[in-house]
Amino acid sequence: MVTGHFGLAAAVKSVERPVPLWALMLATVWLDVIFVPLYLAGVERIDNVPGTNGGYGDGIIHADYTHSLLGALVIAAATGLLCTRWWGRRCGAVIGAVVFSHWLLDLVVHHTDMPLLPGNLGDLPRLGLGLWRYHAVTAAIEALLVLVGAALYWRAAQQAGGPARRVNLVTALIVGCGALTLALDIAGI
Ligand SMILES: [Zn+2]
Repeated sequence: MVTGHFGLAAAVKSVERPVPLWALMLATVWLDVIFVPLYLAGVERIDNVPGTNGGYGDGIIHADYTHSLLGALVIAAATGLLCTRWWGRRCGAVIGAVVFSHWLLDLVVHHTDMPLLPGNLGDLPRLGLGLWRYHAVTAAIEALLVLVGAALYWRAAQQAGGPARRVNLVTALIVGCGALTLALDIAGI
């Protein structure tokens, strides 16, 4: 899941207004951002689900450090602490929670490839509810998350009395970025 995470970030912004929107957007995909250099270094990898070409939802993701339960908790806590120094305790806690929300949303869609401990230490059972088996359902849920998040953001920003043009522009940007990432996701790019 990529797109749906942005919807959650927009929804959080609607209730936690002091936290910068860009920071929430980055926090919500922070585990995937850290995954990229590890993937390029060959530390984490993606295998195709057997019998597929590895398109949308057909990857078995061995992100054994960034997407292990303990790894995600440590990254979330460290990021939250760092943000506390800049924006205070409340914002830091929100950012940390949003970073960890990525793991929870991924848990719903991932195949059973998410370890409990970094590096799958102890070879414990892996987690993942596997909603990705149903491509159309997962894509619809991701799109819905973005639309609901954008709508909540739009309503909250309007009530807060922000300049209408700016509120509409940011909302359109959220929906546009959501649609684009979902399209790229489905196209397997
Ligand atoms: Zn992820």
